This record gives sequence, C-alpha cells and structure tokens, in this order.
Amino acid sequence: MRIFSKKREIQNAVKQIKAKQLSIGFVPTMGALHEGHLSLVRQAIENNDCVIVSIFVNPIQFDSAKDLKKYPRTLDRDASLLKTVSKDILIYAPSVNDIYNGNTVAEHYSFDGLEHEMEGKFRKGHFDGVGTIVKRLFEIIKPNNAYFGEKDFQQLMIIKKLVDKHNIPVKIIGCEIYREANGLAMSSRNERLNPEYQNVAPFIFKTLNLAKEKFNTESAKKVTDWVIGQFAEHDILELEYFIIADVETLRSVKRKSDSKTYRGFIAVYAGDIRLIDNIALN
Ligand code: AMP
Repeated sequence: MRIFSKKREIQNAVKQIKAKQLSIGFVPTMGALHEGHLSLVRQAIENNDCVIVSIFVNPIQFDSAKDLKKYPRTLDRDASLLKTVSKDILIYAPSVNDIYNGNTVAEHYSFDGLEHEMEGKFRKGHFDGVGTIVKRLFEIIKPNNAYFGEKDFQQLMIIKKLVDKHNIPVKIIGCEIYREANGLAMSSRNERLNPEYQNVAPFIFKTLNLAKEKFNTESAKKVTDWVIGQFAEHDILELEYFIIADVETLRSVKRKSDSKTYRGFIAVYAGDIRLIDNIALN
C-alpha cells in the first residue's frame, strides 16, 4: 500500500502505470471511509488494472466553516481499511496547499442548470467547489474510469456533465447506495450521530420507501406533501427539503409522465448533522 501526499509523486506513479498501458480506476473521497466507499473501490478493482483512491477534505465545497472543521479526518484508519480490500491500492492524500498552491478558490462552472437545484440551492457554491476539485484530480490522475456513488446523485450527474462539457477522457460510473442493515445510507457524517440520532435516522429511508409505494398511485404533489407532513410530526429530525425530480434535469416534477424516470431526494438535519438520501421512484 503506497500513500502519496505530493502531486509530483502521484503523477510519477501515474506515468509509470500509463507506460505499461495499464488502466486506472479512480475513486475520489473525502476520507472517513466506510463500506459505502469500499463498494466503489471493489468495483474499481474489478474493472481496472490499477486503483487510485484520493482522500482529501476539499475546503471549497463546504458552505459551513463549522461542518468543514468537524468533518472527520482519519487517514491511518482509512489506509488500514483500504489495505483489507487490496494491498495494491494507491492512495493520494494531498494537503490543501498541494492541490491549491496558495489559491484556495473555486472556479465557476455552468452545469446547464443542474447546479441550481437541491444541494445547489441549499449549499451555495457547493458544486463550483466539487467541479474544481474533481477536474483538478482528473488532470492529475488521468483515470480511465472514475467511480461515484448514487448517494450523491446530483453530484454524479454534475460530474457526468463536467466531463462532457470539458471533453475529459474518463468514463464516469455510478454505483448504488450502500446502506446500514437498518436502511440508513452510509455516510462519513454518520460517525457524528449520537445514539438518539442513530436510533431515529433510519426513519429517513423508511419514509422514502413509503413515498415510493405511494408514487405508484398518487401525484408527485400528494407524495411530497405526505413526506413533508411525516417530518413535521417528527420530534427530532428536521426536514430541509424533499423533492421528486426528473433524473435528467433534476427539476422538481409538476406532472408525472410515463416516459420519464423520477427519484425522490431528501435532506434532513439530525441536530447539526446534515444527512442526504435519495430513492428511485419508478
Ligand atoms: P465522500 O467521501 O462523502 O465525498 O464520498 C466519496 C464517494 O463515495 C462519492 O462518490 C459518494 O457518492 C460515495 N459514497 C459515499 N457514501 C456512499 C454510500 N453509502 N453508498 C455508495 N456510495 C457512497
């Protein structure tokens, strides 16, 4: 297992891999790894000769200084966990300076409107930060395939748009949401949930599942109002948004059409911990 903290070093390793004409699968993460991340890594291992995992808490995609400060940083544990999957994984865990070279600012991107919906509305500048880091990492790693979780479905769509618009030669592969046995979508932020929050957090996925059932027979508006009502009655969890959206545009749906694919997207606060999830509805 090799851990690189410097761009120049990982670029050298990439050069050697490319010289042997081996394929690179890339999994970008912010660390505090869990089984959800590992499911992406396993898929990358299956489909590529070499796998690179980046671990970098990207400051410019956080809209809250407190959230950034509290984000778990567990590099040693992450490396041990990756080692249990394969000893051949290369880890790139750079410093902020190695990536941004003293200029820690986001570039501005247009993702044809995808960036203005949901997470874009509630986390200002978030997708400029995501676009900036992912484009930079792609330039450094030059992967053949890159793996992103449907857990962050809007991010996955935005990355597909990013590589399309900028002609970046990488295939983007979306991976299913990996859940705890109780249905809670795995997230690095789950580590911060106290026992009371851990107890109630599975309510999110339970509600999404019921919403999916209702969506078979009821309008998007009715289902949306029902979900909002469920959370209004909840003593602990606080709903930020629930939206039923067309997966292509991510715009909230007014009138259902049989030819379109929809997902329900949700953001919920458990205290100051923000949890997101989503579910395919049809
Ligand atoms: P993060 O470290 O939160 O930036 O996540 C890194 C990658 O892992 C992103 O592509 C996420 O969508 C993905 N990911 C995080 N949690 C899960 C999960 N529970 N299931 C599948 N993918 C996930």
